[in-house]
Amino acid sequence: LLEVSGLYKTFGTGEAATRVLRGLSLTLAEGEMAALLGPSGSGKSTLLTILGTLMKPTSGSYTMLGQDLVAAEDRALTEFRNRHIGFVFQFHNLLPDFTALENVIFPTAVREGRETATARARGRDLLVRMGLENRVNFPSANLSGGQKQRVAVARALMNQPELVLADEPTGNLDRESAMQVMELIAEINRDEGTTFLISTHDEKIASLCRRQIVVGDGLVTG
Ligand code: ATP
Ligand code: MG
Repeated sequence: LLEVSGLYKTFGTGEAATRVLRGLSLTLAEGEMAALLGPSGSGKSTLLTILGTLMKPTSGSYTMLGQDLVAAEDRALTEFRNRHIGFVFQFHNLLPDFTALENVIFPTAVREGRETATARARGRDLLVRMGLENRVNFPSANLSGGQKQRVAVARALMNQPELVLADEPTGNLDRESAMQVMELIAEINRDEGTTFLISTHDEKIASLCRRQIVVGDGLVTG
């Protein structure tokens, strides 16, 4: 699915420079479900941001689905990202005044300039799969943390992306909600073949992934 090779990312210059990624290489195959581990500050979020095409590396190569995403221009990257990549963050960033369903279909509606019946149906179906059947039209502000995070997972899956990047998706949840979110991710991975890369500090969460990728000193160390 994707390959990064010799990836460098440095923030700042001169004395103040932080060299976060220092020649990191990584391949993710289609259908993988991988955990991204490493100490705080090791560059997990930086790597996910680059893989999500939200930031370019200082140097190195990145190809996904055969496309060179380092050379690509911003407009092409935005289109690529919208079509192929979904995101889940630790803080779900839901729109509080919108219902669960509106949050799930909002990005698609904005992009297409309208809200289609097909989009509503898929959004609803995803929420049902997330166990939120009775919360579809509930204002998202009134959902529990675990429910909000399940809405965020549904939103990430809305466009049937090949890759979902999740940055500590369960970091803010109690054990039970965290396990529930991970079970749903595993189910989607199994049923739809969606590739997941999930950063976490939690060994238990990581152990639910078939592969563990550890970063340290700017490289993949395990
Ligand atoms: P955590 O587990 O705490 O989330 P992380 O592995 O996700 O950590 P990153 O957020 O990728 O780590 O940060 C790696 C390093 O890069 C840190 O030292 C951080 O301060 C630095 N860094 C990240 N983004 C920027 C930025 N935009 N400007 C300057 N430095 C940055
Ligand atoms: Mg981080």
